[in-house]
Amino acid sequence: MTTFAVMIRTNFHTHSLFCDGKDTIEAFVKAALEHDFQRLGFSGHAPVPIDNGFAIRSGSLQNYCDSVRQNQQKYKDQIEVFLGLEADFIPGVTIPFNELRESCGLDYIIGSVHLVSNKESGELWFIDGPDRDIYDLGMKNLFGDDIRAAVSAYFEQVKTMIQQERPDIVGHIDKIKMHNNERFFSTSDKWYSDLMIEVLEASAEIGAIVEVNPRGVYKGRCEELFPGKEWLPLMKEMGIQVMLNSDAHHPDDLMKEYHSSLDAIRKAGYMKLAVWSKNGLEEVEI
Ligand SMILES: [Zn+2]
Ligand SMILES: [Zn+2]
Repeated sequence: MTTFAVMIRTNFHTHSLFCDGKDTIEAFVKAALEHDFQRLGFSGHAPVPIDNGFAIRSGSLQNYCDSVRQNQQKYKDQIEVFLGLEADFIPGVTIPFNELRESCGLDYIIGSVHLVSNKESGELWFIDGPDRDIYDLGMKNLFGDDIRAAVSAYFEQVKTMIQQERPDIVGHIDKIKMHNNERFFSTSDKWYSDLMIEVLEASAEIGAIVEVNPRGVYKGRCEELFPGKEWLPLMKEMGIQVMLNSDAHHPDDLMKEYHSSLDAIRKAGYMKLAVWSKNGLEEVEI
């Protein structure tokens, strides 16, 4: 693995118009160039075989891949562009990550859970998006208002995803806390911490990168990063590599909370960030 001594600016979590992002692939590349990024990775939401409003349609997946590769070629002298997907994991429902990897020749996969499955009924609880009422209603209807059962189902699904699908990067690992915002439970509760430790251990075991993602903060949906900065020192101790990803849905998102997130990572004792390169994973000093 190479380590760069010079700090470079990167982002590997970007959503364009092919999914729920708000601009074209090229508009993001241009914005990244304006902000002096040296590397930009796209991570459109992989097709999910159920009705949804956020993922790339399966018929458009090839167009998405082609568009990223075309921009990679067009801007190759100015910025390194990478082709990835943010793949959902729902047991028995979603496409295996390896199939996605092969069908598109991806550079990497971010594995994320946005829809939590109730094991008995198979019903899905959408825990993301701007609407807190959907979170509250799903917790009530699918888990009988038992927040601990609901949160446990989320973390179990994340853990199974890590072990079974082996994502390169784990996306917003504790997104489940976003709409809770310390209302039904505290992220310092012992039962919650135990669940968090389990998914971090699973990540460490397979050598997955855990991204640090400030989207909840800059969207005003929660006060903390994913994962909360209180977890970073333990992650460092566990040997987990971190990557700083804005989860940009708009070109303006690329730099949001960039410096504050980097500060939190440094304060936790990290001296390097994981980044993607033509040869796979690399580290850069920060
Ligand atoms: Zn996501
Ligand atoms: Zn995302």
